[in-house]
Amino acid sequence: MKAAELQEILHRIDHKGYPAYKDTRGSYQFSGYTLSIDHVQGDPFAAPSKVSIHVSAKMAGFPEHLTNSRCRRIALEDYLLRQFGKAMDKLSFQAKGSGKSGLMSVSRPGQQVLERSACRIQQDGSVLVRLEIGFPANGRTINARELEKILFTFLPECIGKSLQYQALSQKDIEKRVNLASNQEYIRRHLEKQGLAAFVADGSLLPRESGVSGRPMKNGVTFTSPESLKVSFLLPYGGEITGMGIRKGITLIVGGGYHGKSTLLKALETGVYNHMLGDGREYVITDASAVKLRAEDGRSIQKTDISMFIQDLPNGRDTVSFSTEDASGSTSQAANVMEAMEAGSQVFLIDEDTSATNFMIRDELMQRVVQREAEPIVPFIDRVQELYEDFGISTILVAGSSGSYFHKAHCILQMDKYEPVDITEFAKKTAQEFPLKVQPMQRKGSLTFCRKPLPEKSWQGDRRLKIKTQGRDSVCMNHDVIDVRYVEQLVDHEQLSTLAYLLKYAGIYLFDGKKTLQQVVQEVFEVLEKGGMEKICQGSYLPCNFACVRKQELFACINRYRNLKIQK
Ligand code: ADP
Ligand code: MG
Repeated sequence: MKAAELQEILHRIDHKGYPAYKDTRGSYQFSGYTLSIDHVQGDPFAAPSKVSIHVSAKMAGFPEHLTNSRCRRIALEDYLLRQFGKAMDKLSFQAKGSGKSGLMSVSRPGQQVLERSACRIQQDGSVLVRLEIGFPANGRTINARELEKILFTFLPECIGKSLQYQALSQKDIEKRVNLASNQEYIRRHLEKQGLAAFVADGSLLPRESGVSGRPMKNGVTFTSPESLKVSFLLPYGGEITGMGIRKGITLIVGGGYHGKSTLLKALETGVYNHMLGDGREYVITDASAVKLRAEDGRSIQKTDISMFIQDLPNGRDTVSFSTEDASGSTSQAANVMEAMEAGSQVFLIDEDTSATNFMIRDELMQRVVQREAEPIVPFIDRVQELYEDFGISTILVAGSSGSYFHKAHCILQMDKYEPVDITEFAKKTAQEFPLKVQPMQRKGSLTFCRKPLPEKSWQGDRRLKIKTQGRDSVCMNHDVIDVRYVEQLVDHEQLSTLAYLLKYAGIYLFDGKKTLQQVVQEVFEVLEKGGMEKICQGSYLPCNFACVRKQELFACINRYRNLKIQK
């Protein structure tokens, strides 16, 4: 339909009852773009209406070299989305009316550059942007004049300012897209250089505050110790040097407040690309890295934690361990095992958020409380095995216990925010404090054979209610999945994605035969081929999805308390 027809509809329904807004559903041709009204809210107080804008390739005009690889395309999409948001803020138009009248919102990316459904550059070079608009009303009476202002004056201006190559700084775009290529290059080449992570010289790791993702002003920039310096020859912009964290066991020590956790945090989010100007653009971590922590109270379903916990006092089985309320140590053990199941090759652990009894047992305690009376085999007794038998590296912040000196391949001291390689000195000193170990054999071999059973209650339920609460939890009908401590989730939109992926898996893939690993693999294959459109199964696509890794889908499924598993 032509834009003029939308105008006619608006004039016709003005001052009518709110439901008449439903007549506006459809696609309308404006000059250079199509406006689609995909979903119309039922009343002024309901969730806002969903609108998408599809700018033709000709009008958008982005040259092909900006989108010729996945990471470049995502970087450009991210940039356009930010520009679109900025244009909206600048024009700051506010329609009058009741309820959510005139409320307009579009995804607001944080410091990470994530693929999002809110902005997609299609194969043919056209640009799709999804947003929400509260259709204006006075009481429950349609105020179509205000909607007309939004759709015919405000939006065209935003589009003109932000979704056209000609209107944007071409240099700025080039910088961001090339940055993405460089980041991708480093992440791809970590393996070849035998690295688990890379932190470039000049990086700025600390944040402005505990609640802000923005870089700290005047923070101390990162400089690699000579002994750990590595370099990459980047596809754009020459050579970059920095600290290479080798595979194996790396220990980060140092006094309190010297920047240990800040470094680890940067490594945690280094599985994503950071935006230009973040300070952590060139902190790049192995894409499978998982942060592991204690998580008291989480549920566990038939996870094999026998590598760390054996012979519980109540005779509970730890090869297939279930609980509704895990302790610090059992939760951390489950987190480790589930990360292995999720294919992680790098573990990131901070003593600040670990269960002490899971991490170490000192000599005195070993002498007083006999091995037989302690079900926990601490992580320190397994860390080498994890690397030697499973190829899993560990990067560990441990400022308070020297025991790990014996096990570590590399020991870094954070000294007033400067990393110092103290491996040699620490190792030598450690010789004077030999470690008494009571080796504990692993029982049996490790197989990941948990098979989720079908979610019967979801199958017939076309109206399965999905809700997310900020960055904290996902609700499927009335079941709350708490993902607060899945620390590498960085954006609430990732939770919406998880909810829909879980729904898809629960209905189509949980069958009691496929293992959890196979299920997650298949979900990602569907996603790769058909995108979120396929996952959402025909219903209109909510505008708010951000990409997640397999590791987070595993984590989400593992925290679903109603999950039924058979082995
Ligand atoms: P630790 O884990 O060693 O106790 P943190 O990493 O928590 O220390 O850092 C302590 C404080 O120092 C934090 O407030 C953090 O923002 C700040 N900080 C960390 N790194 C830097 C840096 N490079 N420059 C300036 N301040 C920093
Ligand atoms: Mg700390």
